[in-house]
Amino acid sequence: MNTSQLERFKQRLLEIHAELTGKTPLRIEPNRTDEGRVGGDEDEQPLNEMMQAIASNRNRNSDVVLGRVLKALGKLREDPDSFGECEECGDEIPLGRLEAMPYVEFCVNCQGQKDAPKGGPTRRKLTDYS
Ligand SMILES: [Zn+2]
Repeated sequence: MNTSQLERFKQRLLEIHAELTGKTPLRIEPNRTDEGRVGGDEDEQPLNEMMQAIASNRNRNSDVVLGRVLKALGKLREDPDSFGECEECGDEIPLGRLEAMPYVEFCVNCQGQKDAPKGGPTRRKLTDYS
């Protein structure tokens, strides 16, 4: 990977970092434990709780992504040669995949193995038999 490509990924990572760290935070209303303030409309509460659950779930995913973004930025700074290599097998991650997710850590193969369910054979994917 050449310097201008690395620079482009760095910019992209910084953009993602900015998005995740404050420019557009997903709002969770503070003090939701104060149930007296939820209000008298009984229909409203389940929806609020659902929205809050969705929001906090998204934020949790954001934390994971943020960690990867920081890691990728650190890699760009300290060992740019290794940027874009799969952390599992060391293969180069295809550029298209990196462009979609500059913070990605693994190639498609290794990611697939990590995402694969650990359960019994009942949860195998069809492709396992091909
Ligand atoms: Zn790999």
